[in-house]
Amino acid sequence: MEACAVVGINWGDEGKGRVVDWLTEKYDLVIRYQGGGNAGHTVINEKGKFALHLLPSGIFRDGVVNVLGPGVALDPENLWKEIQEVTAQGVAITPENLKISDRASLLLPWHRDLDALEEARLKDRKYGSTRQGIAPFYSDKYQKKTILAGELRRPDRVMARLEELMTWKNLTLERVYGAAPYTREMLEKWLEESCRPILPFLCDMTTYLREARAQGKRMLFEAQLGALRDLDYGIYPYTTSSDTTAAYAPIGSGLPDLKLTEVMGIVKAYSTCVGEGPFVCEMFGEEAEELRKAGAEYGAKTGRPRRVGPIDLVATRYGVQVQGATAVALTKLDVLTGRETIPLCVRYRVDGEETDRFPFPTELADAEPVLETMPGWQEDISKARRWEELPEAARNYVERIEREIGCPIPFISVGPERECMILRS
Ligand code: GDP
Repeated sequence: MEACAVVGINWGDEGKGRVVDWLTEKYDLVIRYQGGGNAGHTVINEKGKFALHLLPSGIFRDGVVNVLGPGVALDPENLWKEIQEVTAQGVAITPENLKISDRASLLLPWHRDLDALEEARLKDRKYGSTRQGIAPFYSDKYQKKTILAGELRRPDRVMARLEELMTWKNLTLERVYGAAPYTREMLEKWLEESCRPILPFLCDMTTYLREARAQGKRMLFEAQLGALRDLDYGIYPYTTSSDTTAAYAPIGSGLPDLKLTEVMGIVKAYSTCVGEGPFVCEMFGEEAEELRKAGAEYGAKTGRPRRVGPIDLVATRYGVQVQGATAVALTKLDVLTGRETIPLCVRYRVDGEETDRFPFPTELADAEPVLETMPGWQEDISKARRWEELPEAARNYVERIEREIGCPIPFISVGPERECMILRS
């Protein structure tokens, strides 16, 4: 059985959604296994332009079954909104092509409030959260202070569980933040309007995936964010609150004994980073603004301008290792067209010494980028479909990255549309 994880190598927004959308042709299932609706994939295909937050990117392909595993932060309110939005754009979403693990924990209404309240309390020391409640949700999940989606099947019992959690959470809302408490009526409304509609999509995911595996179904695991945002291996505390690594795919999907056969790492041809935290290769001023505009680097969820910089080979090599990438897809190479030279961050300087080792998170603040440049190219490459059609300078750039990160780059994306992909043989 084929089991491939598509994961971000850097800070997220590498273009995973676009690559998954392109790859889904070869797979029967597309599975989200961690994170929530806090990031957004932008997917452009013959059905239109979509910003996906929690729905797997296979939702557009007929015959593909999309899965939300037990590892995701299941926000019924936003999921139901997203289902309705995508449906309104002409995409059919039914219990046949979307399945949700009954073991997924629910992101409760107060998680979003707590996220925003804590960011407001921190003021200029904030984490740069998207305020979707992800950190409070995962904290509560590990404290066993939320409920499993499958509990919604028993309305007679679920209200008592929710009220107990509400009483506990109201203490924090009122006493710590001076915010308004939740009421039973608010929870009843939430259950009725946001939770009831997702009930038909719930299933025992482990049984379902075991059967799918026995039938030889091909599985694609879609991660959110990137290696540097991984809770355990990223730039803590400026990470997300879940594991963005491929290694988490078996646990977060519902098939804990799964062995991945392939890990496809997604790397952007330059660097971007949303939110706070160290970003060693960051560019500023006009140069940064020009790159941001060329790449349309504004957050899919928040619209926030992304921080930008040259490709960071130190961080990318680390990301490739953490993800165990077996192949890399390089995206947005077309955005670099028209430059005389292209900068690359090849090493860091820490305490006066140059290093190619990705430092411990708190050392990153003292790291400076060591830059080199390579010749650019002027030709429009968005129509190129074969390696040989790329200008020599573009090929040299890709080959240099490949050498530095120690992983083959068989796929090169030269535009947002599905067909704008070069397969190197
Ligand atoms: P994800 O969360 O990793 O899927 O990334 P995002 O969706 O946040 O960001 C990727 C953005 O880049 C989307 O708007 C894509 O349509 C766009 N994109 C992806 N690949 C390419 C490419 O090769 N060239 C260009 N110009 N845009 C691309």
